[in-house]
Amino acid sequence: MKKPFHYTTSFKLFQEMQKYVQGGVSSGTRLWTDVCPTALPCSIFVKKALGSHLWDVDGNQYIDYRLGFGPVILGHSFPAVHQAVHRADTKGLIYALDSEVELEVAKKIHNVVPCADKVRFANSGTESTMTALRIARGYTKKEKVLKFHGHYHGHHDYLLFSTQHCGFNVCKEVASEGIPQAIQDLLYVEAWNDFEGVEKTVKQHHREIAALILEPVMANATVIPPEPGFLKHVRELCDQYNIVLIFDEVKTGFRLGLGGAQKLFKVTPDLATFAKSLGNGYPIACVAGKEDIMSVVRRGGVFHGGTYAANPVSLTAANATLDFLMKRDVYGRIALHGRKLMKGIEQMMHDHHLDGVVQGYPGLFHFIFTCKDKVTTFKDLEECDFGLFVKVHAPLLQEGVMIDQDPEEPMYLSYSHSGGDVTKTLDAFDRVFAQAKA
Ligand code: PMP
Repeated sequence: MKKPFHYTTSFKLFQEMQKYVQGGVSSGTRLWTDVCPTALPCSIFVKKALGSHLWDVDGNQYIDYRLGFGPVILGHSFPAVHQAVHRADTKGLIYALDSEVELEVAKKIHNVVPCADKVRFANSGTESTMTALRIARGYTKKEKVLKFHGHYHGHHDYLLFSTQHCGFNVCKEVASEGIPQAIQDLLYVEAWNDFEGVEKTVKQHHREIAALILEPVMANATVIPPEPGFLKHVRELCDQYNIVLIFDEVKTGFRLGLGGAQKLFKVTPDLATFAKSLGNGYPIACVAGKEDIMSVVRRGGVFHGGTYAANPVSLTAANATLDFLMKRDVYGRIALHGRKLMKGIEQMMHDHHLDGVVQGYPGLFHFIFTCKDKVTTFKDLEECDFGLFVKVHAPLLQEGVMIDQDPEEPMYLSYSHSGGDVTKTLDAFDRVFAQAKA
């Protein structure tokens, strides 16, 4: 019989880490509760990750469906990207000057992303949404922003609100201490997929609203696609009332397809933000947008900069990632395996009499224990059985299937996941679901 996974070394390292790194992690979402020997949270220390697999310091091996919260579209240490970067890093890591690779990546993004007349590079999703808001404010000369309850746009002050459930349909709640009250006063919050709610607020407050920002597929609260016509509806409202429409494509960009969600849904925003899959794991991000709006970024206008912005190493990673995405059938392979997984997991929920659905797209999906046929709002999630999710999460880990312990963080698939990985995963789900029902 297979020996159960244990986390002895991880836990020892975590205890030592807490002496030197505040809280033991550098990002709050890396704390887990169901692998620790105590009731307090701890974290898993990784030894290495390669292709679709990840190994921890205790020798446990997993098929990885977290993929670093989404960036790894091709696979961990993917040879084409890895080799390009290591050729580039012999030529210096940072110049604070332009390089030809910046031009190449900008052209590629311009060619595939509908709204990308122009781009500006940055290093993280947080930076890109922060910059997009400044551009929108600079362009419209207005200050307020409309966002959706449950959408996450990074950890800067301007948008770190209303990311948690609050028992109401919509609430404007700050998600961290240390954020000034004055910033909360700059926000309107609406419910995702609420056609009337957003229309009412826009009509009432458009004179103050600079930007409407959204995840075109809500992907920080399981995966909740836009209802048919919803993106078109907000596009029309923004056109009518001189509001900059920003698609935060940090998760969907280069993952749902080369043109992102905007291409898939045939709705072009004014600005869009990208990060994650753009560099297959290297820190790179960008704001892309329409010519007239992006034109406010100039000397004496909207300031944007950064020591690490458009550094040649991250750009080389993006260049190699985009080359591969453009030349090979990455999305076809992900579709094949992702559809099989989605259908398989849903079928197993059915077979084991567990109420639930699988929602999303082959590269970005999640299973949700719910009595509903379909989850369309953030509020719907409050009626889900997250207790059951907790019950299956640790057993799946024990089976070598790594999904995030946050029931609202989706599963991701990469080009490196194989048919064998899919079969093993479905077998694991079958055993775990059978046990959960028992
Ligand atoms: N926007 C979205 C939609 C995200 O999912 C995230 C991160 N999960 C961010 C922005 C922030 O990106 P980063 O963590 O790179 O700052």
